[in-house]
Amino acid sequence: MKRFTFLLAVVTLIFIGCKKEIKSDNPFFNKWETPFEVPPFEQIMAKHFMPAYLKGFEEERKEIRSIITNPKEPSFDNTIKMLSYSGDLLNKVGGVFGNMKSANTNDSLQAIDRELAPILSRHRDDINLNDTLFQRIKSVYDNRNKFKLTDEEKKLLDDTYKDFVRSGAALSPGDKDKLRKINEELSLLQVRFGQNLLAETNGFKLVIEKKEDLSGLPGSVIAQAATMAKVLNMEGKWVFTLQVPSMTPFLQYSDRRDLREKLFIGYFMKGDNDNDLDNKTIIARIARLRVEKSHLLGYNTFADYVLEKTMAKTPEKVFSFLAQVWDAALPVAKAEAEAQQEMIDKDGGKFKLAPWDWWYYSEKIRKAKYDLDDEVTRPYFKIDNVMEGMFYVANQLYGLKFIKRTDIPKYHPDVNTFEVTRDGKHIGILMIDNYPRGSKRGGAWCGAFRSQRRNINGKMIYPIVTMVTNSTPPTADKPSLLTRGEASTLFHEFGHALAGLLSNKTYPGGSLPRDFVELPSQIMEHWVLEPEVLKIYAKHYQTSEIIPAEIVEKLEKSDKFNTGFLTVEYLAAALLDMEYHTIKEPIDLDIKDFEIKAMDKYGLIPEIKPRYRSTYFNHIWAGGYSSGYYGYLWCGVLDADAFQAFKETGNIFNKEIAAKFEKEILSRGATKDPLDMYLAFRGKEPGIDALLKNRGLK
Ligand SMILES: [Zn+2]
Repeated sequence: MKRFTFLLAVVTLIFIGCKKEIKSDNPFFNKWETPFEVPPFEQIMAKHFMPAYLKGFEEERKEIRSIITNPKEPSFDNTIKMLSYSGDLLNKVGGVFGNMKSANTNDSLQAIDRELAPILSRHRDDINLNDTLFQRIKSVYDNRNKFKLTDEEKKLLDDTYKDFVRSGAALSPGDKDKLRKINEELSLLQVRFGQNLLAETNGFKLVIEKKEDLSGLPGSVIAQAATMAKVLNMEGKWVFTLQVPSMTPFLQYSDRRDLREKLFIGYFMKGDNDNDLDNKTIIARIARLRVEKSHLLGYNTFADYVLEKTMAKTPEKVFSFLAQVWDAALPVAKAEAEAQQEMIDKDGGKFKLAPWDWWYYSEKIRKAKYDLDDEVTRPYFKIDNVMEGMFYVANQLYGLKFIKRTDIPKYHPDVNTFEVTRDGKHIGILMIDNYPRGSKRGGAWCGAFRSQRRNINGKMIYPIVTMVTNSTPPTADKPSLLTRGEASTLFHEFGHALAGLLSNKTYPGGSLPRDFVELPSQIMEHWVLEPEVLKIYAKHYQTSEIIPAEIVEKLEKSDKFNTGFLTVEYLAAALLDMEYHTIKEPIDLDIKDFEIKAMDKYGLIPEIKPRYRSTYFNHIWAGGYSSGYYGYLWCGVLDADAFQAFKETGNIFNKEIAAKFEKEILSRGATKDPLDMYLAFRGKEPGIDALLKNRGLK
């Protein structure tokens, strides 16, 4: 007995010894011992990424080699399945790097990104253009009826085969070489575009030194600008930046037309300042390379190539869809412009309405018409309360609970972490990162450090989802108090997060087309201003008083206000995207000229600029939305109709409908054709009327 214990002790010692030996300095090479295997952020340093990537490439190359040297006949299991499970280490490091470079970057990460982009592109092409691998995939695809496959497996096989073809696997060796060069150059151009944009956004500041120059601005906005000045060591002054929570209120409230113009031009000229951060040459090159790529792959235009995999399918369908809404929205926007001009004239202003006036006068008209502005509602939209509201909705619909955890590593102090459970069972982790900073790109998005899937033995891998926004930050004496728009954005990203958390699939990978992926997010926006939901979360941050019915009524009444502007500025950007990506010949574009002509073609009025101009249109140049920006509006048709499914029952928390929405849509990821998913949920295709009504255009 004694001897046995001794032996056991020796064995344990050796075991511990070994374990210590193999534990690497690089956290990516170790099993993460953190709660829920969340990335151990405090251990991860910039120097760890590149070695982890290089080892990840090597491991995946080995995995691919073992697939293609398998002497057995190609089968779903030995080819498609193995391919789908390859690249574990790359997923591990890529999950962290991808999220960090967007949400918490620095010079070192930016340098790595530039170095990595072409290597990553080469690695992907090595796999996608590997003929032996493709022949195996093709053999499985051609013999697909011989295998007994689940629906998810059938879709995976179909996607794998088609994605390989779309990536150039069937091209001649000469064309494959051309494609590799194009992909490599594109990868680097996209990184440079994003880095320039961040530097341009951080580079502009409107510094105000005299109190009288703050005329018109509400106290909360002034306090925010004072806090920003403090952060930048300019105590006693007021600083406004190009970040939306700082810029928009200035444009809404500042009486100083000259300063509004200065700030607006700062925003509007991002990436177009003819300096070393200028993006015009970069995007002209991207546009040209995309045409060349689509021709190589046998498509007329890049949009034809991208749209093949979407619900819309063709550029013609997208253009005709956008035109229908454009025709309804432009007259409304023109009438809005006229009303603003009338107000200017009445006030004795002897000038013509300009884009930097729009926010200011629309706010004045809103106030006159509905006796409502953002400053009245902000106190009821404390960020923590809004988050409680969205958690409440998810609880009512899907039975989810969100438990705040402070014992889980985070990458920045602003991050709030929640464990998500249902019926006491773990569902996943949700991180929420809400405030702007120089290390974060603009906008709001949702991502994952780890996506839901099952491992090769069928064991569930739970998701770690992250949602990032640029919301109004707290000041010295006030918590973060949101505008209605910001509250909607939180609900929007939370909708994406729910799709990530409630995903229930077997195989890793796969992504939804842009014209479907916004359904889970946009449908959540419908709950944000429902009186039943408001009374749960919209409580005054000081008195806890529930938002008065009278304000709720004003909110409802003013809901469609400024809808012409919002629709037209969005549509202008969506059309610009489509114009760039339906260019038929590889030409060197003059970006400024192209943009002006593209907008003139549709008769965009000079008082409105596209929501994104070319030089800061991150979505389409670097964000994966090329020929896909229309997707938000396309999904607007779906979400308006899908929310109607709840409304029709007289219960916005109808659990049966919610269960159906989860089963047919949220849980499926990209494992089924989107239209089939929608039909399974709703039984019929939606028409455009619900969207127009929802936007107040009908
Ligand atoms: Zn979205």
